[in-house]
Amino acid sequence: MNVDIETSARAHGELQQTLWEISQTTKSTVLPGASSLTRARATLPSSLDANGIGFESARRHILEDIVPAFNNSSISPNYYGFVTGGVTPAALFADSIVSAYDQNVQVHLTEHTIATDVEYAALGLLVDLLQFDREWQNGTFTTGATASNILGLACGREYVLRTALSRKGVASLRSVGESGLPETLQAAGLSGLQILSTMPHSSLVKAAGILGFGRANVKDVSSKSDHLQFDLDLLEAELQRSDKATIVAVSCGEVNTGHFATGGLDEMRALRTLCDEYGAWLHVDGAFGIFGRILPETPEFSIIKKGCEGIELADSLAGDAHKFLNVPYDCGFFFCRHQGVAMDVFQNANAAYLTAGKSDAQLIPSPLNIGIENSRRFRALPVYTSLLAYGSSGYQQILQTQIRLARRIAGWLFDHPKYNVLPEVGSKRDLLERMFMVVLVSATDDKLNHQLTTKINATSKMFVSGTSWKGRPACRIAISNWRAEETDFDNVREVLESIAGSD
Ligand SMILES: *Cc1c(COP(=O)(O)O)cnc(C)c1O
Repeated sequence: MNVDIETSARAHGELQQTLWEISQTTKSTVLPGASSLTRARATLPSSLDANGIGFESARRHILEDIVPAFNNSSISPNYYGFVTGGVTPAALFADSIVSAYDQNVQVHLTEHTIATDVEYAALGLLVDLLQFDREWQNGTFTTGATASNILGLACGREYVLRTALSRKGVASLRSVGESGLPETLQAAGLSGLQILSTMPHSSLVKAAGILGFGRANVKDVSSKSDHLQFDLDLLEAELQRSDKATIVAVSCGEVNTGHFATGGLDEMRALRTLCDEYGAWLHVDGAFGIFGRILPETPEFSIIKKGCEGIELADSLAGDAHKFLNVPYDCGFFFCRHQGVAMDVFQNANAAYLTAGKSDAQLIPSPLNIGIENSRRFRALPVYTSLLAYGSSGYQQILQTQIRLARRIAGWLFDHPKYNVLPEVGSKRDLLERMFMVVLVSATDDKLNHQLTTKINATSKMFVSGTSWKGRPACRIAISNWRAEETDFDNVREVLESIAGSD
């Protein structure tokens, strides 16, 4: 194999420069042109070349054919699809180091590398950012909030079934991870598991399918008047069932609206009390909403702060780093209040060559024993570097700007005759006070509303995700890029005004 390290290193340097230039200049176009896409597709090889085309040709192919057909979802602050985030300069720097050094962060080997120590320290910095007690520095970095939800439900499954066994006085089985789900359920005298939630993210339902709860056993326990709020009577009635073990899942930041399932410490306390009484596990999906905790204590953000209040009462927390923290994909995080439970679920048993050496290694668990993967990317390093570089006030600034931009957009749309801001929560003031960083909007006219997402995205001046709200199409303007500015409002207004005017 002809590997020229020097050429490769030089190319890497040039790429960094290219990326930096792109990130400085591209403010508007968010999608690749149709011709770039067609051209790129035509260059895809139909089979593997036995001798390879050489690094120089491969490099040219990537930069000239493939890259122009990428979208600018992370690079442009005017990309409001999904909740995408961008990549901070510190995170971009760190991610290049991650690729170059390619540390495998799976076993804590104190004399071989500092990587696991850095990962553990990054969890600690994140705990500080989120204003949790350092007791919460018990968890791991995952590939994203979907994986974090899988971890949360898996730990919950272990815990609730163990609780059910001990309440029944069964001593012969100890762990679902060890004995398997069917045998544990049978010994506990249960027919299955269920998840009680309000407007859970689709990934939680997916996790329920993977882990043997069954997607059909994710049940809505919302109040009739507000589908995001818990109906505590309904919740308790479901918790009382003697045939099912239960996890209660809180949507801390609902993906369509950015609204919160709970509204303060008292509500979280009520959930905690019910879970304790019935042996249930309390899981919080805070993929992006959890970061509401970093906002200052001012009236401007008090409703958002309330939405994330008391989530330290949960048993497990799932979050995304590749969204609001603006580090590259794939990066999420998982925290758990109970040490040891993850180990019972995920332990990579009987592999002597993968055990940590020193006794002080016990302090930091080997990631392969508390999460899904064995070999793992050093995805903690961009988080570590970005948190070190910008600190809590840097991230606070980013979030404040995003929320203020969202509120400017929402306030203008509220008064616009051709648009509705959803959900309709009453007065403009109520709407703006509850507004996080996602604006959900529809057009009043049905014909325009059906084409709204397509028309907005066709401008390539901004990008939104289409969704549906109460049976009508709607668009989500989700602001999550670190480069967003309040003045981006002018661009959004121009696009939406031109679409409303042309109708
Ligand atoms: C994005 C999101 C997820 C899934 O996260 P991935 O990073 O895509 O795996 C889960 N829950 C909520 C609330 C989300 O917004």
